[in-house]
This record gives sequence, structure tokens and C-alpha cells, in this order.
Amino acid sequence: MPLTVEECARRLAGVREAIAAACSRVGRDPAGVRLVAVSKRHPAEAVRAMAEAGQTVFGESYVQEALEKREHLDDLPLVWHFIGGLQSNKAKQVVGRFALIHSVDSAKLARVLHQKSKEAGLVQDILLQVNLGRESQKSGILEEDLPALVEESAELDHIRVVGLMTLPPFDEDPETARPYFARLRELRDGLEARLGRKLPHLSMGMTGDFVQAVEEGASLVRIGTKLFGPRPGSAA
Ligand SMILES: *Cc1c(COP(=O)(O)O)cnc(C)c1O
Repeated sequence: MPLTVEECARRLAGVREAIAAACSRVGRDPAGVRLVAVSKRHPAEAVRAMAEAGQTVFGESYVQEALEKREHLDDLPLVWHFIGGLQSNKAKQVVGRFALIHSVDSAKLARVLHQKSKEAGLVQDILLQVNLGRESQKSGILEEDLPALVEESAELDHIRVVGLMTLPPFDEDPETARPYFARLRELRDGLEARLGRKLPHLSMGMTGDFVQAVEEGASLVRIGTKLFGPRPGSAA
């Protein structure tokens, strides 16, 4: 059954309340947490219903899927983030089309994004994705390689690093993710001192663990299942 606008509004309110409660437990202003509704593998109609219920920021993981879906939604004033693994050969398709790319994890990708953004005459905001769990199957740079990537990126004037992103190892117990979230915040704070400028964004927390992420300082939570339901055709 397609998602109704009423159901979307109910789910959005539930997530916003949980974010506000997490903020109040740790003395944060809920205005500092932005909800990214992860619409990957969900059809354009589901995004439209969520948008009509008031959501404006959407996250997608696959370039082709995202661009095709957006053709059906270009009458709406939506803001799109790219959160999935990105190959350098797709860089040209994402620059300028996504307000924020969460998943930059190599100097090569940073350089290509810079070059394509330069050709397009724009500056692309990015996050650096850190593989804190050191999982071989996950993307993200290892934390010891982060300072070099930050410094190299700082030289590239058509990309702007505005923070860090992580996807901790999966565990049924969301408390297991908390130390990873705290670590990402520490790394961010260290980099701010090193660079002498703010890195305002920490993209962390999904359906299962966004409460812990918000308590640990997330500024962007990426929530799919809790808003849209299970993704069609896959366990992922
Ligand atoms: C799919 C995905 C999400 C959303 O996951 P849910 O558990 O459905 O909330 C968040 N972040 C990334 C990077 C994803 O690929």
C-alpha cells in the first residue's frame, strides 16, 4: 500500500520527537540536528508523500536511481544529499546536483570532485567518511589517514569539507554504536583545531541508532526505514 501523507506526517513527528528528547537529555538545541530522509530504493511517489508531509532533505545512495527519481520530483523544492559509495567515474554526475556528498573517502575522489566542480564553476560541499570500525567491506578512510586527506582537501578550492560521516559496525544493540559516534566527534574537534576553522557537520545515526548519535553530537541523521518502511526487494 502506498504511503499516505498522513502516515508520513505521523512518522516524521515520531522521529522529530525522538530527536528532541535526545537533545533535551544532553542539553542540545534540536535546531542543530537536520533530518535526512533516506529514500533509496523507494519510489518517487513515496518521496512526494514525505515532502507533502513537510520533509525537504532527502538522501540517496545510487547515482542513476537518484537522478531518474528526481526527474519525477523536479516540481518540488527538495534538497538532495548523496550518501552512498561513490566511484570517481560518477563524480561528474553528482557535483552541483547534490547539496552535500557524505561519502568522500579518498584523495583520488576528492581531486576528481574538485576538478569536476571547477569545470562546472561551483564549490561542492562534502563530508569525509571515516571507517571507524576498520571493516574491510565498508567504505570510508581509516582514521589515521584522515589528517592527510583533510589537508589535501583543504588545498582544493572547488570542494569544501564541512564535516565527517561514519557508519559504525552493525549491532542489534544501538549502545554499541555510541563509542564510534563519540570518536567521530573527537576526530572532528581535533581537525577543527588543526585547520583553525569549524567543521560543523557530523553525519551519524540511522534508524536503529539515531538517538545515540544525537546524544553524541550528530548534526545530520540519515533515516530510511523508520520513515519509509522496509526497502523493497532487499534486506539492506
Ligand atoms: C541506507 C542508508 C541509511 C538509512 O538506513 P536505515 O537503517 O534504513 O535508516 C543511512 N545511511 C546510509 C549510508 C545508508 O546507506
